[in-house]
Amino acid sequence: MIIIVLFGKPGAGKGTQAEFLKEKYNLTHLSTGDIFRYNIQNNTELGKLAKSYMDKGDLVPDEVTIKMLEGEVGKHPYSAGFLFDGFPRTIAQAEALDAFLESKNESITATVALEADDNILVARLLERGKTSGRPDDQDEEKIRNRYDEYNQKTAPLMDYYKAQGKFHAVDGIGSIAEVTERLTSVFDKF
Ligand code: AMP
Repeated sequence: MIIIVLFGKPGAGKGTQAEFLKEKYNLTHLSTGDIFRYNIQNNTELGKLAKSYMDKGDLVPDEVTIKMLEGEVGKHPYSAGFLFDGFPRTIAQAEALDAFLESKNESITATVALEADDNILVARLLERGKTSGRPDDQDEEKIRNRYDEYNQKTAPLMDYYKAQGKFHAVDGIGSIAEVTERLTSVFDKF
């Protein structure tokens, strides 16, 4: 089974690229951000809990996020593979994911990071905030907090996956098609 982790800072284009990649490689796309937003829209208990963190640009606690992700994977028993988008975002989540996959005799195939400069991304997110309706896209302070969270908690994952020989990086700046092309040339080697 192909299991890919797509990571990158907020606004790097993970969601946009995932739409192409899931079709091309027949993968189930699981975006933890999208799943949380779906729960918020439907006013579930999970949504209420997640909202208090998301609105500030903080990460949702690991325990909650891991449990949710495992539940979502369980909903796709016949999937040919998974594309995780926005998960894992902490070392604890990465360790939990490895243990979870191992219990199913599976493992991560590779991780791919979309790289881009913070200032370009902040501008992109503020632009997206005009139409996305996302409170965490509309306020520069919240956006900067999301980058602080990324730098503190998510950036260490690069070394975690490098140590496993599973880390790849792609330049995330360029047209959508150019970035897709770069990603597919990496994916085609898996
Ligand atoms: P995203 O749509 O990936 O930008 O995620 C939006 C927000 O959802 C983040 O700022 C976090 O509050 C929350 N979130 C998404 N994925 C995770 C995760 N793996 N761990 C913790 N919080 C997450």
